[in-house]
Formats: sequence, structure tokens, C-alpha cells
Amino acid sequence: MVTDSVVEPSLLHRSLHEKPILVDSAKGSYLYLSNEKRIIDGCGGAAVVSVGHSNEQVIADIHKQLQTVSYVHTLVYSTSPSEELANLILEGNPGGLCRAFFCSSGSEANESALKLSRQYFYEKGETQRVNYISRNLSFHGNCLGGMSLSGHVARRRPFEDIIPDNFHRVSAANSYRGKKEGESDEIYVSRLALELDAKFQELGSDTIIGFVAEPIVGASLGSMTAPGGYFKAMREVCDKYGALLIFDEVMCGSGRTGTFFAWEQENVVPDIVSIGKALGGGYGPVAGILIHQKIVNVLKKNSGCFNSGHTYQAHPISCAGALSVQKIIKKQNLLENVRKMGAKLGQMLHLELDDHPYVGDIRGRGLFWGIEFVNDKQTKEPFDPSLSFGNKVKDAIFNLGCAVYPGCGTVDGVKGDHILISPSFDITGEMIEEIVSIVKQGIVEASKSIT
Ligand code: PLP
Repeated sequence: MVTDSVVEPSLLHRSLHEKPILVDSAKGSYLYLSNEKRIIDGCGGAAVVSVGHSNEQVIADIHKQLQTVSYVHTLVYSTSPSEELANLILEGNPGGLCRAFFCSSGSEANESALKLSRQYFYEKGETQRVNYISRNLSFHGNCLGGMSLSGHVARRRPFEDIIPDNFHRVSAANSYRGKKEGESDEIYVSRLALELDAKFQELGSDTIIGFVAEPIVGASLGSMTAPGGYFKAMREVCDKYGALLIFDEVMCGSGRTGTFFAWEQENVVPDIVSIGKALGGGYGPVAGILIHQKIVNVLKKNSGCFNSGHTYQAHPISCAGALSVQKIIKKQNLLENVRKMGAKLGQMLHLELDDHPYVGDIRGRGLFWGIEFVNDKQTKEPFDPSLSFGNKVKDAIFNLGCAVYPGCGTVDGVKGDHILISPSFDITGEMIEEIVSIVKQGIVEASKSIT
């Protein structure tokens, strides 16, 4: 049981009722709790860990940076790890992206994307552009801008009345629940493109700043990939009305799905992309946006400056950690491992769990997989939320020695449960087998507890 490793009392845990579990140490893909229990890290927190925990090289590089420059303000100064990190990511100007803005969290990154996209149109003289379109069942962060974009009912509920009315939504691309019986991907995609087009027209097609979407929806939909051609169709609608395409790759990007950018596998280039999580692998709070040349050109001709900034922007310690993580990923060709181990993880999950009566859908790409649970496989009816089935599964798996990331509200923001599996990029085949075996046992245990 995990109950003997909880911290009591905790003055800082986000829950006022539950107690956090104390992790004494972490190494590679394992967490060691205060009760000496070993947990295999099947999710790296919230899909964050990319080169394992306590990597010696990253620790050494951060230590060196701490002894060199620990902080400067970016209004005037820069530091070599942040410059080198930007150069490494933007080498060859991928898809025309040519500039980076580093901050401390995915939420800050999305706030920056919102502000920069508005500033772009403001400086272009298209000041009537004030609206954003995102998708239902999305999650884009916990600050007010990201929350306003997010289409996850339960996460928004207390804040609904303070969300500005410039934020609008269309359906998510959800092949499991959104696609009609017998509908082809092509027809489904054109239906979604028509819906987006209609939303542009309803709001006034020249009032839209941008369409914001995660290429693979993580926390809110459990690694939901889009049908082929979906993002190309969305790009075409944006282009038709001169709006921007903004990708939120905070969770699915930075190599998580086998290429540095998730959009590389969609053959669509965004105008702004947010990154975070696996970028720094958990060694420091670091995230950012990468910006297309066409936006940079407008700002260059006008204000000459992005009208935003943070005290800890491009923090040298976080950037040194992220640089070290990204160098390791390159040097050890870990994206190849993501693709190889990701294929193994997907195959094994299907093999072991497709027949389970409560497993509705298994989906994902690279080392980013979701399992959606249902009470009835035929009708896809979810469990009653009061059962908290996803959490029961997560707890059962944890008690058996593996950490996975739970999610609820998968169907409509209130009902529905899923778990996410997103291990470190250097995971081995044996570890994948260990994770799948424990996940299977945990689902069986949790199922028994509700019947
Ligand atoms: N965007 C997406 C897609 C996310 O999954 C998250 C966090 O889970 C965020 C933004 C917010 O990132 P952060 O928690 O680093 O603020």
C-alpha cells in the first residue's frame, strides 16, 4: 500500500483533504518512496520526463551553469545556454519558424502565443481581429488565457463567468466518439472543416486571430490523434480567412511522439507553436513559443519588440538543463527509441487489453498512449463519474508499483475516464513489458472493485 509513504501534515498540497506521497529519490525510470517502495515511472509526471530522473550529465551541466551565471534579466541580457537552446531547436528554420521566446511553464507559453498573435494583427493594422477559436475538450493551461481557450467543462466551471467572450470553440477531432458510424476519415475531416468555416463566418471571418489546437490531445482526451488530413484541412480554413494556426505542443511535442515537433507527422506548419514539458525533461521549469518568420517580419517593421516578458524568462539554469536534455536526446538518438519503444508499447497495450470489457479505446503515437474506459463497450457508455473509475485504476496500478497519469471528463468534460502512459524517451523494452503488465493487473483489480 502507498498509504505509509504519505506526508502528514502538508501545508502545500493542492488538495485540502488528501496527502501527497513523498518521493525520497528518483533515478532513471524509477521513483523511490519514503516507505522504500520502488515505482516504475510510466508517465514521467504529466509527460515531462524525457532523459530519465537524476541524469548525471544534466546535473553536471546545471551545476556548471549555477557556478557561472545563475540569473540575469532578459530586458538587457542573455546567456549562452538560452541562446544555444534556441539555436539547437531552430536549426535549419523548421517550417519557417525562426525565433524563440522561453518562459517557465506551458501556461505562460500559451499566454504568450495569445498575446503575440494579437500583437501581430494589431501591428498589421487588422485591429478588428479579437477572437480565438479552439476546440471542445481541450486543455491549454491554468492561467486565464489558456483556461479561456480550454474546452474542458469541469476545469473551467468556477471561472466561467470571468472568461472573456473572445474565446470560441468547435468540436474536437475525436475518431472514437465524434465520427459517425461508417463515416470515412475523409468525410469526417470535411465535416469538421465545414464546422470551423461556419464558426469563422458566424463570428465574422475577419475578426479571428487564430485557431488553437493540440496536434495530439493529451490531458483532456487521453492522447487523441487526429484523422489523416485533419490539420491540413484546418490550415486551409485559417489561410482562407487570413487567420493564424497556433499549435499547442506543450504535452505532445519536443520529441514525445517520435519527431521533435508533432506537426512534422501532420505535414502542416503552424505560425506559432508552444512547447514545454519534455523540452526540459523536468530539470527546471522551462517552456516557450517558436515563431514563424511572417510574424517576426511584421514586428520587425513596426514595434521591433514582443510586448511581453517575465522575470524568469529564458532562465539560465532552466535553459542549461533543457539544453543538456536536448543534447542527450540528439547524441543518443533517443527519438529513434521513442518510435521503436512507442510501437512496442502500442502493440502490447492492444494485445493485452483490447478484449477487456472496460477498455473502450487505446490510442496514441510514440511514447504517448491513452486508454479510455467505458462501462459498456458496445454503446461506449462511460462510468458514472461518482465511481471515479480512472482514479481507481490509477491507484490500483500505483499500488502494484507503476505511475500513470489519470484523466476524467473524457466524454463531455464531466463523464468519462482515461489514463495516460508516457514514459521517458530512454525507456527499455523490458521496462515497457513491466509497465504493460502492471497496467493490465491494475485495470483487472480496479474492475473487480466496482463489480
Ligand atoms: N498545454 C497543454 C496541452 C498541456 O497539457 C498543459 C499541461 O498539462 C499546458 C498547456 C500547461 O502547461 P503547464 O502545466 O506547464 O503550465
